[in-house]
Amino acid sequence: MNIHEYQAKEILKEYGVAVPIGIPAFSVEEAVAAAEQLKEKGASLFVLKAQIHAGGRGKGRTVKSGAKGVMLCKSVEEVRKGAEDLLGDTLVTIQTGDAGKQVQRLYVTDGVDIDKEFYVGVTLDRAVGKNVIMVSTEGGVEIEKVAEETPDKIIKEWVEPGQPLYPNQARRLAFALGLSGDAFKKAVKFIMALYSAFDKTDASIFEINPLVLTPDNDILALDAKINFDDNALYRHPELKELRDVTEEDPFELEAGKFNLNYIKLDGNVGCMVNGAGLAMATMDIIKLAGGEPANFLDVGGGANVETVKNGFKIILSDPSVKVILINIFGGIVRCDRVANGVLEAVKDPEIAEKVKGVPIIVRLQGTNAEEAKKIIDDSGMNVISAVLLKEAAQEVTNAIA
Ligand code: GDP
Ligand code: MN
Repeated sequence: MNIHEYQAKEILKEYGVAVPIGIPAFSVEEAVAAAEQLKEKGASLFVLKAQIHAGGRGKGRTVKSGAKGVMLCKSVEEVRKGAEDLLGDTLVTIQTGDAGKQVQRLYVTDGVDIDKEFYVGVTLDRAVGKNVIMVSTEGGVEIEKVAEETPDKIIKEWVEPGQPLYPNQARRLAFALGLSGDAFKKAVKFIMALYSAFDKTDASIFEINPLVLTPDNDILALDAKINFDDNALYRHPELKELRDVTEEDPFELEAGKFNLNYIKLDGNVGCMVNGAGLAMATMDIIKLAGGEPANFLDVGGGANVETVKNGFKIILSDPSVKVILINIFGGIVRCDRVANGVLEAVKDPEIAEKVKGVPIIVRLQGTNAEEAKKIIDDSGMNVISAVLLKEAAQEVTNAIA
């Protein structure tokens, strides 16, 4: 689960990670009030930041007003003007894709002077099964680019899960940033607190880009991106509250309500499969046959009429779907029951209307597979049966050819 920058910074603050003061705003008036409040606390420069679940905001522009997603404002009036431009407009950045994201929330922060920009990130290094803390002097730019072009500029320390980050590791990282004296000490404290926050919240990614050194030798997180491990969210009810569903794919949200494991993809072959492994294999075989999957959809072990119906509804709400491949292995369920379930689902008026002109290919394998094939073939409905996955994939390519 992704959260917004202002929420991430609130969490960082709780764990003792230094961030500039800031106030979220949901309207122009709130943004103005936030700037006034920061001014009273001594701020003379403000940063107005669009809150969307995507980075690259500084270089991004809104569609209508052409405003930047991160603005430096010298006065409360500039904050007002910026908020008017941003709110409700669509911000397009390198990470949002061409469609962009609508700006519904803002964050007004105290603008700080920057001496140097760094990068610090924490994530799980799957290759070694340990958490990794990465720092780089190349802050403020895309870290993926640094990793590709000058990987030696990224310095790493690993931590065994369950073990703490040791101060000497944090010191090595701070040293790698070329810091000394007061700034060095603050960076060590920053990195220690950051790792602790990552660990205690069961996060999958913490990314601070840029981490800055100010002329007063302060070390601050100017930006913060946090991603939590969904599987651990049950342990953190307070974090669950931070979810902003308007940032999520509407199809995936809908599928979540039905307890279906659905991920939208770019192709036009809708797939409905029982079991994640089989779903992966199905996507592979569609690709091998020259097709492109429109989604990943695991309806779970016990595919029944209800789950098949819900699966159809989700798949058919994606207008790019031109053909549907149902691939069910009858292990826990009997194939004949699934076959009847599919036919019943296709007769559902809501589904029948949408499924017109969308060929359905069903491949059932396992217990009572032959009986199932006969049920489908004899139904007289626009459903094509297949026995081998290869045949099913071929039917799919024929259908979209
Ligand atoms: P991103 O573009 O979505 O990654 O948004 P960031 O929060 O990283 O902001 C983009 C850039 O704006 C940063 O890399 C900084 O150069 C600049 N910026 C952000 N906050 C401040 C600030 O308080 N003071 C100054 N001088 N620049 C800032
Ligand atoms: Mn950033």
